[in-house]
Amino acid sequence: MSHLTESQLHSLLSGALPAQENQALLEHALACDDCAALLWQANEQLPAIAPPLGLEAHVLERAHARPRQETLRSYTLRVCAAMAAALVLLFSGVFQKLAQLDLPQINQNIQTQITELIDYAKEGLHFEPKPK
Ligand SMILES: [Zn+2]
Repeated sequence: MSHLTESQLHSLLSGALPAQENQALLEHALACDDCAALLWQANEQLPAIAPPLGLEAHVLERAHARPRQETLRSYTLRVCAAMAAALVLLFSGVFQKLAQLDLPQINQNIQTQITELIDYAKEGLHFEPKPK
């Protein structure tokens, strides 16, 4: 593609071109330093002008829309999973059972079992094979 003409630059900046032609001119300007500089200068000369038609929406869509949707979907899934887990715990009565547990008694039982295991291990250590 040849360099952008002054007429094309102004058409581009005014948003008067069909989308396909708009895109072709922008793609050239993105790849060509000379036309990018001309486009920049032309834009500076027309300060109050809006960006080419559809450019902002196109850029925003490409840059943000997809990752944002995925992040939102992922976050929503995690929140739903957490809520579902909380509801399951709530309705299964886990919290009620936890409140009813006799922790000192459980602690005592565990200590007793550990003591028994230690005694058992000591007996094993002192075990001597029977003489033949
Ligand atoms: Zn060019």
